[in-house]
Parts: sequence; C-alpha cells; structure tokens
Amino acid sequence: MITPRLKPDSLAVHAGREDLADLGVHALPIDLSSTNPLPDIEAGGLSYEAMAGGGAPHPEGGAVYARLWNPTVARFESALARMEHTEEAVAFSSGMAAVTAAVLATTRESGHRHIVAVRPLYGGTDHLLASGMLGTEVTFCAAEDVAAAVRPDTALVMLETPANPTLDLVDIRAVVAAAGGVPVLVDNTFATPVLQNPADLGASMVLHSATKYLGGHGDVIAGVIACDRERAAALRRVRAITGALLHPLGAYLVHRGLATLPIRIRAQQANAQRVAAWLSTHPDVSRVYHPGTAGDARDLLHRQMRGPGAMLSIELTGGIEQARSLTSGVRLFTHAVSLGGVDSLIQHPASLTHRPVAAEARPSAALVRLSIGLEDPEDLVADLEQALAHAPGRTPDRVPGALDARRPAPAHAGATHP
Ligand SMILES: *Cc1c(COP(=O)(O)O)cnc(C)c1O
Repeated sequence: MITPRLKPDSLAVHAGREDLADLGVHALPIDLSSTNPLPDIEAGGLSYEAMAGGGAPHPEGGAVYARLWNPTVARFESALARMEHTEEAVAFSSGMAAVTAAVLATTRESGHRHIVAVRPLYGGTDHLLASGMLGTEVTFCAAEDVAAAVRPDTALVMLETPANPTLDLVDIRAVVAAAGGVPVLVDNTFATPVLQNPADLGASMVLHSATKYLGGHGDVIAGVIACDRERAAALRRVRAITGALLHPLGAYLVHRGLATLPIRIRAQQANAQRVAAWLSTHPDVSRVYHPGTAGDARDLLHRQMRGPGAMLSIELTGGIEQARSLTSGVRLFTHAVSLGGVDSLIQHPASLTHRPVAAEARPSAALVRLSIGLEDPEDLVADLEQALAHAPGRTPDRVPGALDARRPAPAHAGATHP
C-alpha cells in the first residue's frame, strides 16, 4: 500500500501499481481484451450502466467492453491523478483528443458554447478552437484580459503555461480569479507534474499531451486530463461515446515513463540551462526564451513552478534563412516536431507546429524551438555551434571539427520546409 505521505519521486515509481502484488506480478500488465466475459445479464447491465454514467465498472459486472474501461489505462490514470493532486484522471488517444473531450464535456455540461482561450497556445489547440469545428464560439485573449472576455455563457477558460513556443508564463491563480467560477483548464504539458501542479492553484482540469514528457521516449501518442471525480465522469462519458480511449499499449508506455519522469526532468532542465546560457552569449542569437529569464516572470516562476523546465526558444539575427540552415545543419539534435523526449529536437514553429495559427498570433519567423534531452550538454552546444557556423554570412573558419557526425548533413538544406 502507498502511504499518502510519499514524496513525488516515490509516487512516480509506485503510484498506480497498488494491485500488482495481489495479481502476483511485479511489472505492469498489458490487458488487451477488447471485450470481457459477462457473469450474467444483471451484473453486466449494472456495470454497463455505471460506465455509461462515467463511473468505474460495477465490481460484479467487470469492464464489459474496452472502449468503456481498461485496467491498464486505469492504472496510468490513477498514477497521474496522484502526481497532479487530483481525485481522478482520464486518458485519451492523444493530447488533441483530450482537448476535444474537455471542450465537449464542459460545453455540454454547462449548456454554454463560449470559450475563452489565452494565447499563445499549442498550434493544434489554437487551430481546433479557431476552426469552430466543435460548435464553440471562442474569444482569444491575453492573460490580463480574461476577466473582460468571460461572459455569462462562458463554459471554459483555457491556458497553457509555460506556453508554446515562447515559454511565456501565465499566472494560474490570477486567471482562476479572473474566470470568476468558470472552470479553468491548464495545459501542463511543458511543466509536467514534477515542476507544476495547476490543481493546487485552482485549475479545474490539468491537461497533458502525454506524447511529450510523460511518455518521454518519442514512441507513443497519448493525452490525459487530471480533475475531480465529477468532471472525470463527464470526460469519460464523452470518451466512451466518441471512442477516444487510449490504447492499453500506449497506457503501458506512458505509465512506465512516469517512473523516470522526475529524474529525466531534472537532468534535462540542467542541460537546458547550460545550453541557454551558451546561446545567450552567441552573436547570432538575439534572444533566448526560457521561463523566468525576465524580472516579473522570475517572480511568477518561483510562485507557481519548481523550475524552468527543459524547453527553450531562440530568435536568430539571421531570420528565417538562418533558421533554415540551423535546423538543417544540426547532427546530434533531430530536426523534428514534438518535444519532451530523452533526445534533443529542434524545429521552426512558424513553418511547422504553429503553421495553422492566425498570422497575428503566429510566432516570429526568426524563432527556433529546442527541446533539450539527456545528451551531454557540451555535445549539444558543440552541435549548435557547428550548425550556426554554417549559417548564411558566417565564415567557414568558424566550423569546428570536434563533433562526431552520426549522419551526413542533408544535401538539400531546408528543401522539405521552404
Ligand atoms: C503536442 C501538444 C498537444 C497535442 O498533443 P498530441 O498528443 O500531439 O495530440 C497539446 N498541447 C501541447 C502543449 C502540446 O505540446
């Protein structure tokens, strides 16, 4: 049994595994049954009824059907809920499926269709809301303008902090106060429960793209929302009917990822601080975006986070030309979207992740985003140094030969993403 006093690192290793000893196993089982034998009509019916209402299966009736309930998924959910200090959590087939379910559940439960969304947001979330695809009317605004944007028919306020890709920090407590009782959803993907617990600051729902840090190894697409029992039931009702359940293999991978999450975050964060410090002295870098670098944000960082995390963005003096040559010239970093894995990634948000965002809210074309992994930070610095040295206008004598190239530089720099 887990005592409630366990510290976060111990919870990460042990939470959601409470039933394993009784099952006679040590590692997380992966339950792949799509359907489950029913004891009889009555017990099966009771269980079906309980799950259709968003609850757990009836003990006699079993899980019935995997779109309604799966034990491997439920173990991950209970672990994540413990780590986020909420009663429950509901896992989805992707972060975007989780965003969709949050919008559908809150609009349906409240009978309202107005959403307030604090920009900047992840490009996919911004795109989903702006498209009106879910029948919502959305007011995009800055964090300071939430009170003015909230209306009597507002169903949900959404925000992301640190935000993607500028790493802006939003004061969660202040937005919760400004929302005046309207539920606030915080996308906690960048911070993870290791660095920030939005529920402790008044957030009603805490969302993760578990694809990123929770999974941590770039091999699973998953989403999850931590919240109270009532909201979890509403989310499960949406999940059951729209079919956005996380596959048990994915749930196994993200649950396994939780065990090393705290240690990965601390090591990646230390690496990011080293890389950020080096970049801030580079003549081609006009600005480094890393949480808490400016005065006000540093205050907020200390109030609501336990560290700045391992994401950073930079603005290049050479603009998009230099962004193109940097992203094509790296050898240890992988030029790819996504983030939060054990290996370092680099990407150009204006061309890729934030491409669908309205022009006025799209990031600068000179901005490049880096997800710092677990490599030796000196190798990461050396890779960025050699790639920047190849940038337009740099002289070839700045090219260092130290880095062991694992693969040749692409022949057609930037050809895939003009
Ligand atoms: C990636 C991401 C999402 C979307 O998650 P998927 O798992 O790709 O569907 C949502 N929010 C943030 C902050 C993200 O980085």
